[in-house]
Amino acid sequence: MDCPICGSDDVEILNSKQKSSKKKLMEEYLLKCEDCGHVFKDVISLKKPKPYRLIVSEHGKSHKTTIDLSPSDELKSGDVLLSDVGQVEVTSIEVADKRVTKAKLEDVNTIWANSIEIPARIGFSVDLHGEVDSYKLDLERDFEIAPGDVVKIDKHIVKVHVVKTHERKLTSGFAKASVITRVYSKPVKFNNYDYDLTKDIIKKTS
Ligand SMILES: [Zn+2]
Repeated sequence: MDCPICGSDDVEILNSKQKSSKKKLMEEYLLKCEDCGHVFKDVISLKKPKPYRLIVSEHGKSHKTTIDLSPSDELKSGDVLLSDVGQVEVTSIEVADKRVTKAKLEDVNTIWANSIEIPARIGFSVDLHGEVDSYKLDLERDFEIAPGDVVKIDKHIVKVHVVKTHERKLTSGFAKASVITRVYSKPVKFNNYDYDLTKDIIKKTS
């Protein structure tokens, strides 16, 4: 929406109205150039949203649904969409029997995504010299766990020594729950701890 007289993109929107035809949604703008004062009209047209097939996975299960998106838009892996099952993050896009990471929606058959509404589910192991107490926990996705953290869990106070993510094993740094698969820990004889995960236990598996 640049000024046709001086080329400036510093324009003020005086007025706008939506028009829609069978296939298109049009937004007509009345604009004023802030630099030279010229008043002009511009129209932005978008194809009307249509339903796309959306497959959302959460904790290994998948739900089929649809989502209305404009075919004019582009979609890529990592984009966050608001679907009828909450916010989802696009993981893969199917175009003509191929999976791609970026496509114009016009060409898309199916959108694959992960739910990001739900908490992250991680495993937490407590090494008891030969025996292991193992827990499943549901945590806020951006909850951070670091090797060295002292944690209360169930009847134990433990120190985290390894944080395993989808991609690596961490013995330093930290990771967010959304990428952690399992935390390995050993009991310590402390009375104080950094945080308590007891309330986040879904089940104990040993
Ligand atoms: Zn101008």
